[in-house]
Amino acid sequence: MARTYRLSKSRFTAGLQCHRQLWWKVHEPRAAELRPDAALQAIFDMGNRVGERARQEFPNAVLIDFDYRRPLASVKPTRQAIDAGASVVLEASFFEDDIFVAVDSLSREADGWVVTEVKAATRVKPQHIPDAAVQAHVVEKAGLPVVRVELMHLNREHRHPNRGPLFTRADISAEVAAFRGDIAGEASAQIQMLAGEIPYVEPGPHCNSPYACPFLDRCVEPSPEHLIEELNGIRANKLDELREAGIETIDQIPSDFPLEPLWARHRAAVLREQLIVEPGLGEVLAGFRYPIAMLDFETVGPALPRWYGCSPFGAVPAQFSVHTIHEDGEVSHSAYLADGPGDPRPGVAEALVQALAGAETILAWHASVEKRCLSELANACPEHAPALLEARDKTDDLLVVFKNHVYHPDFRGSFSIKNVVPALLPEMAYDDLDVSDGQTASALLEQLLCRPKELTEEQTTALRTKLTAYCQHDTAVMVELLKLGTRSASTSPLISST
Ligand code: SF4
Repeated sequence: MARTYRLSKSRFTAGLQCHRQLWWKVHEPRAAELRPDAALQAIFDMGNRVGERARQEFPNAVLIDFDYRRPLASVKPTRQAIDAGASVVLEASFFEDDIFVAVDSLSREADGWVVTEVKAATRVKPQHIPDAAVQAHVVEKAGLPVVRVELMHLNREHRHPNRGPLFTRADISAEVAAFRGDIAGEASAQIQMLAGEIPYVEPGPHCNSPYACPFLDRCVEPSPEHLIEELNGIRANKLDELREAGIETIDQIPSDFPLEPLWARHRAAVLREQLIVEPGLGEVLAGFRYPIAMLDFETVGPALPRWYGCSPFGAVPAQFSVHTIHEDGEVSHSAYLADGPGDPRPGVAEALVQALAGAETILAWHASVEKRCLSELANACPEHAPALLEARDKTDDLLVVFKNHVYHPDFRGSFSIKNVVPALLPEMAYDDLDVSDGQTASALLEQLLCRPKELTEEQTTALRTKLTAYCQHDTAVMVELLKLGTRSASTSPLISST
């Protein structure tokens, strides 16, 4: 007998994005691509914590015991709770039309039921609508009229501990109603599709919207090098102009085609297959007075704020690294990593003021982040505010200096330090680090600071070692980039893009 397939809310929304993606998710549930990395797992865990906290907003509700391994077992208890007169049911579970849903909150009103979907977000996003709509569809199929659909999300105006409500609710009934008509047909198409061979779907913009598809590498060939789309900051109308002239790659752009200086440098680097360093670099670098401090922060942004004055997802500096280059060429290093679970800001502020004392120049890569962190620390720690605000005002952006003067063909249009370092300092690429991106660092910091009791002593030590190595690496590479820039500006023949 042919196997029949069931949908769930997450399967339905995956199928909405792409049938091929859903087919793989259902037929290869243990695919390597579906194993969450630390950053993605942290997002799932955060969603669960927000969901659990949201239940406190429904004090007299009946919570249905939900086991994700046996979801259908929750359907009968849900019906029993409703029949017994429950006014609010949490995790209310239904299975209709081969679709299973567990509604975060189902509330009884005089003329029907309110479906409330909880999201760990600070606003309604377009992808929330089908998610809520499929639930409303199944609840109505189960014989319960839905009078309103709400999205309950975190309130960005909330400040810990109690300024403004933590959650806010948006009535999305109209958006859901507009979508509801498509659900039955789409669900049956998905179920039919799952019973057959894997469908072919042409890759396109949907592969990254609303979420990056985990199977991108299976479907999408790596793009050829040096496409005109790599030109940093290029707008659609300029791209159209180039395409209309029959130009697809940067090396095809004729020398008389008007380009921004950055794009002209990019083209020159691609054509000459080498690093381009503009002659003005030396003058800019010579303007930085010693001691020069390289600064990098790592932040933690819990969805549920924990420290005074913090908002949901508000980025709180919890770690820094400072490498200081002195006039005689000596390099010194200071670093700080907060302990949990108290407010990390006072310790960070105090250690940072000491670390930056005497620095004539402060440099950061993508300095707007560091400037924001310095402002946040000054707000939270008024006793250090003068020194922190002075540091903020004297912080320059090393990224901008490189962007204005340096281009290597391997940057592929990006000045992220993760692109620049492998091209200019391959021996310092991030591959050998246990933590190699800011998102993972932030997730691990949250674990370390906000849930220290979940970690053994050994795990805590291991986490601290990884995080320290990562943050320190960011400022160590900036020291080497500055040295490289200074060397290039003084010893090598400079190559201008013009
Ligand atoms: S990469 Fe694109 S086409 Fe391939 S499964 Fe994912 S969404 Fe579908």
